[in-house]
Amino acid sequence: MYWENDVETKDRGSLEAFQLLRFNETVKIAQKSPYYHTLFIDIGLDSDGIDSLESIKNIPFTTKDDLRENWPYGLLAVPKDEVIRMHASSGTTGRATVVFHTAHDIQAWTNVLARCVYMAGMRKGDVFQNMMSYGLFTGGLGFHYAAEKVGALVIPAGAGNSKRQIQLMRDFDTTVIHIIPSYALHLSRVFEELNVDPRNDTKLRIAFIGAEPHSEKMRKKIEEIYGIKAFNSYGLSEMNGPGVSFECPYQNGMHIWEDHYFVEIIDPHTLKPVSEGEEGELVLTTLMREGMPIIRYRTKDLTRIIPGQCACGRTHRRIDRIKGRTDDMMIVKGVNIFPIQIEKKLMEIPGVGTNFVIILEREGYDDMMIVKAEVQNELFAGDAKQRESLRKRIIDELRTDILITPKVELVGPGSLPSTEGKALRVIDNRKE
Ligand code: AMP
Ligand code: ZN
Repeated sequence: MYWENDVETKDRGSLEAFQLLRFNETVKIAQKSPYYHTLFIDIGLDSDGIDSLESIKNIPFTTKDDLRENWPYGLLAVPKDEVIRMHASSGTTGRATVVFHTAHDIQAWTNVLARCVYMAGMRKGDVFQNMMSYGLFTGGLGFHYAAEKVGALVIPAGAGNSKRQIQLMRDFDTTVIHIIPSYALHLSRVFEELNVDPRNDTKLRIAFIGAEPHSEKMRKKIEEIYGIKAFNSYGLSEMNGPGVSFECPYQNGMHIWEDHYFVEIIDPHTLKPVSEGEEGELVLTTLMREGMPIIRYRTKDLTRIIPGQCACGRTHRRIDRIKGRTDDMMIVKGVNIFPIQIEKKLMEIPGVGTNFVIILEREGYDDMMIVKAEVQNELFAGDAKQRESLRKRIIDELRTDILITPKVELVGPGSLPSTEGKALRVIDNRKE
């Protein structure tokens, strides 16, 4: 049932002792990078390290800006010829953040991600179709190596080309897929067009979904459409990529692997730790990396630690599904709103389709939110009154949650742009 019994169920005391040991080892390695070398001198941290995990909070955070300013090699802690792989963040703005891995790092990452997919139920004998983009993005090669490690047959399908994806699934009896949630919904429409029923005409049983925020409703929708179990997978390229935290079969939060990452949740304004169970920004320290260790990285992702033990017996704590990023928060008429709140509401309303986009405009001095939502074909082609009542219902339901009244436009299935990568949910035209 466990990939690594002794690690996954280690008692908290031993796990924390191990973390301290690895943290101090990480300090020794990081010291060899130009960036941390200078930082440690500035703060007076020497190779003796620290004597309790508590003291980690005295070390400054590392931010994306630090990575950018020290691009490309400033955080590299080994000679360049030790590096065997490079990955980058999928960011579309600014210079992509690059991360370098040694052979040891790739092996460690592969193993921790194998732990995840095994936990969710993938085994030797499964056929795994990896529908993530290969290349610099970590979702391709990361999962590819992990799936091979557990012994599955890997189909490196890559992203996009929906009809071919479906063809591959049917030709080779794919049982497990790795897919971006918004793309899973888009693909369900292509299934419809082809008159293929994913529940009955495929052998699918598991999906790993991640790379972008999604709600419980969206997971349920994917599970229903495909007749599978969908497991939330969280990671970021700065911390390797996928494999940071992952759902177990109880699907109640994602176990975060504390032998690989030291976890903190901070208040993004005061930068102080929040109390256990409270929501805040996730801060992570790599404990197993040698090529490019990163200490106290501010992920900008908002989540919380779920208090209590998981029934699966793993002792590594769980984080809640990511609510959004501190930087994808919209402020509309002074109200803080996350795209995920809109998604959650839309997914609850019968008749609403699989894609939506939020457009922000300025009318005079006033902010205006326009939500364009795809509706199901019967509704779009059907009775205008019914459509209007759906539109009003969406406005009402959104208003109760986000406290402002959006304009809502209903559009036909497939009419909004969809991407093979992370969905673009917000178009903010207020900036000019
Ligand atoms: P990248 O480094 O390009 O892979 O992007 C990593 C970012 O994607 C994270 O910091 C999150 O904001 C987002 N992300 C990844 N996985 C998830 C997930 N399961 N749920 C929500 N957001 C996610
Ligand atoms: Zn569990």
